[in-house]
This record gives sequence, structure tokens and C-alpha cells, in this order.
Amino acid sequence: MGHMTTLTGTVIYPNDPEYPQARMNWDPYTNAFPIVVVFVQQDEDVVNAVKWARERNVPIRIRSGRHALAKDFSQANGAIVIDTSQMTNVQLDKTTGTATVQPGIRVGALVQMLAKEGVLAPFGDSSTVGMGGISTGGGITAVQRTTGLISDNIVGATVVDANGHILRVSADENTDLFWAIRGGGGGNFGIITSYTFTVRPAPFQVGIFEIIWPWEQSDIVIDAWQRWAPSVDQRLGTILEVFSKKNGLLHSRGIFLGSQAELETLITPLTGVGSPIQVFTDEVTLLEAIDFWAPNEPLFDTQNTTWSSTWVERILPPDGIQAIRSFLEKAQGSESNVFFLNSGGTMNQVPPHATAFFWRNTMYYLEWDASWTQVEEAEKQLQLVNETRIRLQPYITGSYVNVPDLNLKNYAWDYWGGNLARLQKVKAKYDPDNVFNFAQSVPPARVCHDRDEMDTVLDGEETTP
Ligand SMILES: Cc1cc2nc3c(=O)[nH]c(=O)nc-3n(C[C@H](O)[C@H](O)[C@H](O)COP(=O)(O)OP(=O)(O)OC[C@H]3O[C@@H](n4cnc5c(N)ncnc54)[C@H](O)[C@@H]3O)c2cc1C
Repeated sequence: MGHMTTLTGTVIYPNDPEYPQARMNWDPYTNAFPIVVVFVQQDEDVVNAVKWARERNVPIRIRSGRHALAKDFSQANGAIVIDTSQMTNVQLDKTTGTATVQPGIRVGALVQMLAKEGVLAPFGDSSTVGMGGISTGGGITAVQRTTGLISDNIVGATVVDANGHILRVSADENTDLFWAIRGGGGGNFGIITSYTFTVRPAPFQVGIFEIIWPWEQSDIVIDAWQRWAPSVDQRLGTILEVFSKKNGLLHSRGIFLGSQAELETLITPLTGVGSPIQVFTDEVTLLEAIDFWAPNEPLFDTQNTTWSSTWVERILPPDGIQAIRSFLEKAQGSESNVFFLNSGGTMNQVPPHATAFFWRNTMYYLEWDASWTQVEEAEKQLQLVNETRIRLQPYITGSYVNVPDLNLKNYAWDYWGGNLARLQKVKAKYDPDNVFNFAQSVPPARVCHDRDEMDTVLDGEETTP
């Protein structure tokens, strides 16, 4: 055997005092025992880590913000974790309207930094999510109806592939990989060490609102929200969040890229529903709106949580709303909740095949999660989340790859729909040995075991970019 590669960067082994912290993810349920965690500082460290792993046949997991929501995505027992969280450079180029961003920076830090420069970039509801994972899986946000998904704003990236080659991807170079990383999901094609995004001038004023109702009114509020939010003014992004009955919080919030006065008129269909306990509106700077939406929060959660996610394309009938209520009555953890986010606008104007992100005909995004603290509660909460999905199944479409669910039977279809076949070809081209392989990775072309529809998709597939 010839020359063996040495790991570079900050290398943490199980006996090191830093190891217990190094192997912690946001959701403790996703934690594992990797044999080594490498905090990489530059592309060469990533190249060395990939070569090191391949020489020794060690499974690879890639990580940046540690916010993976299912086991096996960014950690695995016996694996090397290639962690990009120390790569946090941001370069804003106002002349081209782009920002080149390393994957380790957290969403909150990035959008605050850009807002201070008078620039708007999409942001979700948590400040500590890593740009590494959220961007390549799509990135759903409060401003997606104006900006599109985070992935819709990617114009270039640097990727270290399965052979340890550093690739530039853009509309001109490695175009098939450029297509795949916009929605295909983290961990599948290589380690992304930089993204270039388009950014746009920040609005002068931002309207914000919050409405709180008594928990008991959740059914009528859900129904009113879903009939209003998907078609309301495109500049208004809104969530509805219903926590477990035990918790008791039922509220809707929103960000409007316009004035408070206009916002107050737009939300009247919602303030008129039930008997709100509180109606709050304000007009603030973008920086304040970011803080309202995604305040700084801890890097690690103390509760274990399990999730499922989906898209809603037609009004959820009473039976679907009943399924949600039943979930919320049974869920024991105080953090357990059901979360709605309106889609449409720019997000739905991108054709389904233009990037790897397929679901472009949705009214809203829907997710539900159950949390617990004691190990013996886990099984019941996992079952509850799954049983709720089965009840909702007639009314829902697909799933969101960034909020994965290991119980999905046809995960590949649910995440990638009609883009699956093409993703599998890109996978076979850039990762033919399936090195980047985990519980729900993109299966390379010809290793497809999924449902009949998928065969049809594969047979008929010859789409061009
Ligand atoms: C509290 C909370 C709030 C959230 N809010 C939102 C939201 O508002 N909008 C939204 O869209 N999503 C949201 N998510 C989901 C989030 O998008 C995913 O959890 C995302 O995958 C996290 O990325 P990460 O880098 O933090 O996680 P990690 O655990 O580090 O990685 C997650 C996945 O991305 C891959 N990955 C990470 N870095 C890289 C890289 N450099 N190159 C290639 N692959 C990589 C990993 O291999 C893994 O598959 C939220 C999650 C949490 C926990």
C-alpha cells in the first residue's frame, strides 16, 4: 500500500476532552458515536478527510450547523464527521449583487450581517441553523414568496467530490451538479465549501404581526389560516403554530415587506376569526424583523424530537384538521407542535424541473413534531408522529428533505418527486461508488428499489436542464 493520507484541520478523537461536545447535535436524538470529528478550515482539509476515509473504508458524514432532524444524516456510529462549521467567511459583492458564503455560518448571523449592509437574504425561523445544510435542501423561509427558496438564490458553489476533487459548479461549470445541489439535499454529492447567492436590496420598512388565540379555537383558526395565507399578498410570509394541548399556545405570525397600515388591512380575515387574546402589529427595520422572527437561540436543544413534514396542495378537509387536533391532544412533550408556512409567489414560479427542488405547486408547508425527555417515551412519540402521517396521507403531497422522516416508505419519491431520476444520474456520475451514502441518500441510477411510479419516471426520463 502506498502513501496514506493524514487528517488536517482540528481533529477530535473519542478520547479527547472536546469529544463529548464535538459529537453533540441540536436534536440529541440524532447524536451518535463517530470515530473522529474533523473541523475543517479550508478546502484542502476536506480533500484530505475524504481521501483518508476512502483509504480506510470509513463511512463519511458531512455536517455544518448540526441541526439535522433525523438520525444518520450528519452523524453515524463509526463514521468520520467532516464538519465545516469553522468555515464562516462571507464576502458581499454589491456590484454583482452576490454574497459568497462558507457553509459554517449560521442563518441568523448571515442575514443580520447582510441586513446591516442594506441587503435582504432569505431567513427561516431559527437563527442557529447552518447554511451548509439548509441551502442545498431548499430552505423555506418567511420571505420565500418574494425571494424564492434559499436554493433558488444559489448561483455558484464549490464542492469537494467523492474523489477529493475540488469542483466549481455554476450555470457554466458542472451544470448537472449545479442543478442537483439546488434542492437535492445535504450529504449526497460532496462537501460544499462555499455557496454564492444572489441578494437584493433590503426594504425600507417591514411590517410584523402576531395573533394569539385560546388553544381550543385551533380548528377554526387552522381552517381560516389555510383559506387566507396561500393567496394573501405575495409580500406577506406567515406561519401558524399550534403547540400541544398540554402547552396550550396557538398563534400566527408574519413578516410583510411593506407598511404596517397595509399589513393591518391584509390580516383582517385572520383577526376576525375566533376571539384573539392578543393582536400585535408593528413596523420595524429589517434587522428588527429578523430578531422578531428568529431571535438568537441556543445551539443545542435539551429535548429529543422526531419530525415529519409535507406539502399541502389542496384545502385540508375537516378530517385532516381532526387528525392534527388528535395529534396535539396526544402529544406529551411541551415543545410538540404543528407548524404551517405559506408558500406561493416566487417560490412557485420556478418550474419543478428547473432545479432539483420539485414541489412547486403547494399552498403551504406543514410539519408536526413530538418531543420527549425520557428514553422510555421515545417509541410512543415516534409512533404518534407516524400514525398522524398515515391519517393525513390522503390530503398531503411529498415531504421536505430538510425535515426528514425515517419512517417514509418511499422517501426518494416524497423528497424529490419527478426529479428523482435525474438526481440519480447526477449521483451516479459524481459519486459512482456511493461513498456519500446514508439512510435516505439519493440512490445512484440503476440501484433504484422504489415504487412503480418511479420505474415509469425512469423509463420516460430524458429531461433537459
Ligand atoms: C430549530 C430548527 C429550525 C429550523 N427552521 C428551518 C427553517 O426555517 N427553514 C428550513 O428550510 N429549514 C429549517 N430547519 C431544518 C434545516 O433546514 C435542516 O435541519 C438543515 O439540514 C440543517 O442544516 P445544518 O447544516 O444546520 O445541519 P447538519 O446537521 O450539520 O446537516 C444537515 C444535513 O446537511 C448536510 N450538510 C451539512 N453541511 C453540509 C455541507 N457543507 N455540504 C454538504 N452537505 C452538508 C448534512 O450531511 C446533513 O445531511 C430547522 C431545523 C431546526 C432544528
